[in-house]
Order: sequence, then C-alpha cells, then structure tokens
Amino acid sequence: MSGTTRLGIWLLTVPLVFVAMELWAALLHGRIWHGLLWRVHRSHHRLRRLGERLEANDALSLLHAPIAIALILYGCQGREGVARELAFGVGLGMTLFGIAYLVVHDGLVHGRLPVQGLLRFRYFIRVREAHQMHHRGRDVPPFGLFFGPLEIRQRPRAASESTLPAQRTDAEGPSPRRTSTNTSGRFRAVSRTNR
Ligand SMILES: [Zn+2]
Ligand SMILES: [Zn+2]
Repeated sequence: MSGTTRLGIWLLTVPLVFVAMELWAALLHGRIWHGLLWRVHRSHHRLRRLGERLEANDALSLLHAPIAIALILYGCQGREGVARELAFGVGLGMTLFGIAYLVVHDGLVHGRLPVQGLLRFRYFIRVREAHQMHHRGRDVPPFGLFFGPLEIRQRPRAASESTLPAQRTDAEGPSPRRTSTNTSGRFRAVSRTNR
C-alpha cells in the first residue's frame, strides 16, 4: 500500500471518528453518566474542596484510552492492509478527541489548564456557555461538548429551563449542579468550588 493511500485513509477516518466520538460521548454522558454511573459523575457536578485537584469522574475520561492505544499499536505493528490503516486512523481520531476534550472541557470550561486564550475565538465562548448551562441543573442539556451550542439551538426549551436556579432534590440521589466558572472560566476562590 502506498504512502498516499495510507494518508488518505487516515485523513478520512480521523475527522469521522472525531465526530462519532462527540456523539458517542454525548450519549454516554446523558444516558449513563447521568444514569447508572451518576455516583461517579456527580463528583464533577458537586462542590469541590479548595485544593482538590482530582475527582472520581476523571476515571470516566480514561475509559477509552486503552482502546485507542490498542488500535494505534495494531496500526503500527499489525499485518499490512486496509484494516491496519483503519485501526490506526480510528485510534488517532479517538486520541485527538480525548486531547481536545481535555483541553476544552477540563482546561477551558473548568479552568484546570491555562488555555483561556482560546476564548479569543467565538466558537469556544459558545461551547463554554453551553457547557456551563449543563452544570446549572439536574440533567440539563447539552450533554455534548463540541456540538453543545447546536444541541441547545435544537432544544431551546430545555436550554431556557437550564437558566433557572438549581434546586437540591435529595442528598443521596443525583444532585443539582451549578457552574463553577465565573466569566473568566476560572474557579471561584471559595472554600468549596462547584463544577
Ligand atoms: Zn454531566
Ligand atoms: Zn463539566
């Protein structure tokens, strides 16, 4: 297989996988993280103690990493052919999505990385605003990140409901969430910060 063909397969696969991962992540977030795995995911929505750097929810972010690594390894070591190049492209797309999610969600929206410079782009301002809406109530869309602004536009009612103040329902069940970020995207310097 020629180098050009390989490159062509990767260039086709990576963006498709990126979009597929966004849709898959939104589905997981809405149906599983806010359902079966709420006990883990709520660590991302509740108040965070000052100085607390990690949250249980971070483990969910790593779930796809072994799959991406395995695909890339197969793409490097496997028998030559279309399957090997596809595996490499899928693994690369998953990896790029994971990095982008980390930078935009954890870094930009929640202020865990110094990437506020991205706010010079209007798109990232809208992504941040959309995700902040998600943190304003119980099961409030958008559940996707990069398509978050689009999701809000398609569900204007849910988005407007998300502007209502969050109300606690019970101590043990899924708790309401409020955004932790102020207008600059940084955590507030309070005894506990919420996310
Ligand atoms: Zn959530
Ligand atoms: Zn978040």
